[in-house]
Amino acid sequence: MEIKITRTDAPKALPESSTLGFGKIFTDHMFVADYSKSEGWHDYRIIPYGNMSVSPACTAFHYGTEIFEGLKAYRTADGSVQLFRPLENARRMNRSADRLCMPQFPEEDFVEAITTLVKLDEAWVPSDPGTSLYIRPFMIGNDETLGVHAVDHATFVIILSPVGSYYKEGLNPVSIMIEDQDVRAVRGGTGEAKCGGNYAASNRAGDRAEKKGYSQVLWLDGVERKYIEEVGAMNVMFKINGTVVTPKLTGSILPGITRKSIIEILKKEGYPVEERLLSVEELAGAMADGSLEEAWGCGTAAVVSPIGELVYKDQVYTVNEGKIGELTQHLYDTLTAIQWGKSEDTFGWTLKI
Ligand SMILES: *Cc1c(COP(=O)(O)O)cnc(C)c1O
Repeated sequence: MEIKITRTDAPKALPESSTLGFGKIFTDHMFVADYSKSEGWHDYRIIPYGNMSVSPACTAFHYGTEIFEGLKAYRTADGSVQLFRPLENARRMNRSADRLCMPQFPEEDFVEAITTLVKLDEAWVPSDPGTSLYIRPFMIGNDETLGVHAVDHATFVIILSPVGSYYKEGLNPVSIMIEDQDVRAVRGGTGEAKCGGNYAASNRAGDRAEKKGYSQVLWLDGVERKYIEEVGAMNVMFKINGTVVTPKLTGSILPGITRKSIIEILKKEGYPVEERLLSVEELAGAMADGSLEEAWGCGTAAVVSPIGELVYKDQVYTVNEGKIGELTQHLYDTLTAIQWGKSEDTFGWTLKI
């Protein structure tokens, strides 16, 4: 794999760690590759970060041919930088590409492109506790036509954004509203693909929840509006009577890498964990009789996000007295210790760049 590197002649000043939010600041360079049906992927290049020129007829604008990934580079105590399970993101992006009839991007090239780009912009990987470099690979359909058709031309891009600690005041339990009107996805649709359109469709419910003072919505399945699926843009887990229960991947749920990693940690530690259907009635029952002990969302951005309050049809339930649970904290500590290289990675999940 050959990548042509053009360095910026106007490097930006590195930001103060305290000013980092999420996804507002971008590094000096980006990776770009082009695809055409006749040539395949070609012209791998790293160029200065900046605006892109695409046709106004580009299919991504009109028909939502866009998929993306999200992962992080972490600065360890010895000053080195490591990635967390990047091959999983490469594989998932290709499953998303398959669903949206977009081209497959070679998995080794995906990891090498990230590694090369992060190495070049390595100074941008922050080192304060909880900070990291967020990596956003994405692919757009780039055919210049208003005809609806599988993608013949595409562009794959990777941009980098240093991000601050998700938890400035420690792990803070959030309030969640169970959404009973809009749905995020249906089986056979695009719920298990990481595509931009899923986010566009979820904004209305998210906005409604925010206006009512809740931080996220909990999605129910799109057919019966009965089974728990995800919370906001995270997977969700519950500790009920000592067992961890998480919705099984039925086709409308995004298969999170954090979710997968937590399940692997729980199994290794001998914790009972079940991937199964979980109805909102069962959950309401467990909340009412106190057998719901803990609840949390999980995803790359927050790692683990404790849930302190759940609201369903105007009935408010408090989880674990609104405090972070013991297992929630343990999972956060275990996973972040591996990611930031504070504990030995016995799973082989990290990749030093
Ligand atoms: C990305 C994403 C997740 C979490 O996936 P991770 O790989 O753990 O970051 C969960 N749900 C949705 C809808 C997502 O887009």
